[in-house]
Amino acid sequence: MSVYFFYILSWLRWSFDWTHRLPAFLADYLELNFKQYKILKVNIKILGELSESQLSNIKDTLIDISVILDQCNIELEILGYIQTIKYDNNVLNSITCGFSGIFSKFFIWFSKNSYHQRDVITIFFIPNFKNFRGCAYPGTNWIIVDINKAKGRTIVHEIGHLCDLWSHSKYAENIMSTPSNGRKISNFQSSMIRTSRFVTKK
Ligand SMILES: [Zn+2]
Repeated sequence: MSVYFFYILSWLRWSFDWTHRLPAFLADYLELNFKQYKILKVNIKILGELSESQLSNIKDTLIDISVILDQCNIELEILGYIQTIKYDNNVLNSITCGFSGIFSKFFIWFSKNSYHQRDVITIFFIPNFKNFRGCAYPGTNWIIVDINKAKGRTIVHEIGHLCDLWSHSKYAENIMSTPSNGRKISNFQSSMIRTSRFVTKK
């Protein structure tokens, strides 16, 4: 029950955040602040054991995230070392990527196992994620991505959803398009990400 209490609380805080986010967004969008470098904090959790090649792929993916986010003058800071955690197969089997998923077992499990601070994103790498590469539920502070299929752009795309980029772009080269390999972040998208609760000043 507490998971849903905090989920609703998160949306209430999100609406209050706009009182200071809106001026910050406009300053950023109009490039009045010279786009100072900011930091995005993430925590990495992996479900199950990894092979050497999977581990090295994840490390490359994290470097790729940094390259993509550099377009927005954002540095990636990894708070938690890569850690593997035990999981229940029933949790993975209950994953869906849509509104109804909020009321599923996995939603509670990932919410409980994510980082305790609301402004840090936990990236869960999971094995065999059905037909998806990744999934995000706006209002939470976690995303789930497939260990074998997720690329840097997949993760930045899902982070974009958490940072209030809810709709998909029709331009294939854009990070928020799907399905595609687009990596470009527009000025509007950059300002939304930079003023979200997950991005802080250096
Ligand atoms: Zn999407």
